[in-house]
Amino acid sequence: MKSIFRILRMIYVLDKRLLPATVVNEICLTLPTYIDTLLGAYVLDGLIAGLGLRAMMPVIFAMLGLRVLIRSIGEISQQIVWSREGLMHGLFMAKKSDKTLGMDYEELCSPAVNKLRDRMNQDDMHGWGITDVYYYFSEGLGGVISMITALIIVVPMIRWSLGSLIYLAATAAVLAVVAALRGKFLKRSQELADSYENARSYAAFYLWGGGVDYKMGKDIRVFGAAPMIEKAVSEDEEEHEGRRRYVSYVRRTSAFNGAFGGLLQASSYVYVVLSALHGALSAGEVVKFASSLYSFWGSLSNMMTMSAEMTQASKRMEDTLEFLALPEKPGGTRSPEAAEKYSFEFRNVSFTYPGSGRDALKNVSCQLTQGERVAIVGLNGSGKTTFIKLLCRLYHPTEGEILLNGVNIEEYDFDEYIRLLSVVFQDFSLFSFRLGENVASAESWDEDKLRSVLKTSGFGERFDALEKGGETVLYKNFEEDGVDISGGEAQKIALARALYKDAPFMILDEPTAALDPVAEYEIYSRFNGFTGGKGAIYISHRLSSCVFCDRIMVFDSGHIVQRGTHAELLAESGLYAELWEAQAQYYK
Ligand code: ADP
Repeated sequence: MKSIFRILRMIYVLDKRLLPATVVNEICLTLPTYIDTLLGAYVLDGLIAGLGLRAMMPVIFAMLGLRVLIRSIGEISQQIVWSREGLMHGLFMAKKSDKTLGMDYEELCSPAVNKLRDRMNQDDMHGWGITDVYYYFSEGLGGVISMITALIIVVPMIRWSLGSLIYLAATAAVLAVVAALRGKFLKRSQELADSYENARSYAAFYLWGGGVDYKMGKDIRVFGAAPMIEKAVSEDEEEHEGRRRYVSYVRRTSAFNGAFGGLLQASSYVYVVLSALHGALSAGEVVKFASSLYSFWGSLSNMMTMSAEMTQASKRMEDTLEFLALPEKPGGTRSPEAAEKYSFEFRNVSFTYPGSGRDALKNVSCQLTQGERVAIVGLNGSGKTTFIKLLCRLYHPTEGEILLNGVNIEEYDFDEYIRLLSVVFQDFSLFSFRLGENVASAESWDEDKLRSVLKTSGFGERFDALEKGGETVLYKNFEEDGVDISGGEAQKIALARALYKDAPFMILDEPTAALDPVAEYEIYSRFNGFTGGKGAIYISHRLSSCVFCDRIMVFDSGHIVQRGTHAELLAESGLYAELWEAQAQYYK
């Protein structure tokens, strides 16, 4: 019930008009049937009593007029409901997307949150989720309105005889048994649903999660991976088998629900006939009584099915609610104090990735000061990128702390803190937006600044050749005339983006890995220029590039094992000298 209320509140907040329109719509859908019944009963009694058409006309017209009015209001509310329902669903999807965009990165990458997101994707794929809860809510609401209307008609006609009491007691007993059985059915069907929803769904990933991007097409073709993917999507055995068992179970229990509803409805006729025989019910009353009691049982039976379905739908939504309740972004409210030089300090920092038993960083201590160029080198997997991710507060130290001018970085407001850092990640992402938007990370940009940073990053000539300049859309996902770019060009754009941000610290993780030797040489020759006055942190496997740096830190298995200048480290016999020799021999 708590989840249901939370979801209904969320629906209300997303679109304030949907729920009121739904109430009006359900009333308008339900009442005409009862008006017909009342009208039929009135006409029948009138005819038997010998009333002429003229005498009955005012009531007939009043009721038909009311019916027409309700139908018209119903048509309007139906239209509102249909359009608002789509709108609400869109806003809900946007809410989930906003959450993904803003939340703490470490949380986003955790296995637990991945599982939540996987289940949410499946909900979207199956058309479950909030639309489902809304659907059962509106159906259930229709049932409640119908039951209340039926009771208003039926209760005054019940003769409180022994027979009536026996009938009511018998139906109450049947209802209690059926409710208990339904509880069991629900629990079992929930277990069955869980068993297949928990199965890892390739279909959710490859068909809905955006897994099959056109850029995957090369590898799929060259390595003949299509059959493997097709098989994974269509023969997710565990999921199929689980789904089959679930559907078969639900089918059987639905048959039971139908039979029970039918039985109660049939009993209403028996009761009304017996009441008519023993009491003084007019023909019209018999029609009203039987028809309303019949509708009452029908609505009750439906309501029970709907409430069971709604319980299940809202239970499924619990993952989404949990996801939406996760913290928005890393905490902290402080603004970085203005300083002539910013300085970071890693103090005994260790870090283990969630779910991994191994330390990616172990007891790392170092200082990074604005104006200084520091190179980080080391073998693959030695912890270099993890170091940068911690500095960017994408992950948080498991032990130790990172300080900015003496204050723990977690104390700062994330958005203000991240203004100090500009990064080109090794696995950077560009977006299917305009080139200018990509570089400025904003809807608008300064075209001169754009040209200047693209020139510095080595994309200048290509930029000048682009007919639409900064308006050029990258990639073809959304635009037919979008441009596909090479890996090296993408790296230049990513570098330009980091330059455009113009932050006090510039972090480059393998910034020239995809560049040709000429472009790489040009970047290095401009390196001093574009990092002048800034703090520069530079990760590279090409050790020749470290020669430019003031200081080098050598990482090995999560530790900093050597520190010094290029000349100092070459003079030591250690990992740095080994790596240098290994590379240098190919150039000799
Ligand atoms: P480098 O940048 O030096 O190549 P990384 O910092 O990327 O190394 O990785 C350090 C260690 O952490 C490696 O053992 C790597 O396998 C592990 N690692 C990196 N990213 C993750 C992750 N998201 N989850 C679990 N382990 C990770």
